[in-house]
Amino acid sequence: MSDLNSLQKHLSEVHARMQAACARANRSPGDITLVAVTKYTDLASIRGLYDLGVRDFGESRPQQLAARAAELPADIRWHLIGHLQRNKAAIVLPVTSLIHSVDSLRLARQLQADALKQQRTIACLLEVNVSGEVSKDGWSPDDLRAAWSELVTMSHIEFRGLMTMAPLEGDPEAARPVFHGLRNLRDELIALQPEQTLPELSMGMSGDFEVGIEEGATLVRVGSALFEELPDQQP
Ligand SMILES: *Cc1c(COP(=O)(O)O)cnc(C)c1O
Repeated sequence: MSDLNSLQKHLSEVHARMQAACARANRSPGDITLVAVTKYTDLASIRGLYDLGVRDFGESRPQQLAARAAELPADIRWHLIGHLQRNKAAIVLPVTSLIHSVDSLRLARQLQADALKQQRTIACLLEVNVSGEVSKDGWSPDDLRAAWSELVTMSHIEFRGLMTMAPLEGDPEAARPVFHGLRNLRDELIALQPEQTLPELSMGMSGDFEVGIEEGATLVRVGSALFEELPDQQP
């Protein structure tokens, strides 16, 4: 676990990097939400960041998200960023502010059915495999274009935008075409269904969130830069 001083130091560094990227891109820091990814860290570190003012936390495992949400303050906004199996949809619905990882029509249909049953509306992002890597979760752009007219009819899901993961390479510039592609795809989906706004783009992790911000990210998902002694180290 990280002590409060090192958490504070890392948080300030991340904020400074975000601000520098905003300045380069002529954007307002208030338009970008830092989602602190806590999948590798403990409750004490989450409480530490909470005390430093962070309210958006991301978990990749549904069970861990639900367990932590039950133990931590109710004003935390929990983001599910990892793959969601259909049989876990019902447990995350009551405790999740935003699901970043809707990666198939079958999962979307399940979420719609469970949300209807629970009489709630769930905010979601569609995870896109922009780079086409075979190992990766996410819609291919073609499959998403084809499913879009059905997705927009789902009454209990609010699709708020798109999410992607860049290839994990050392060079953050490798992420730029991927992030740019996600933004173009978002604009294309809006053109197909003009009543949809899709304001959110979730793109950028510890190694490449500056590039994400320069390419239009509204959410950056940052784990190791907040919680590891070596800010550049990838888990
Ligand atoms: C773990 C994870 C992150 C955070 O990665 P870091 O490189 O530690 O910042 C972001 N997004 C997703 C989907 C993740 O699984």
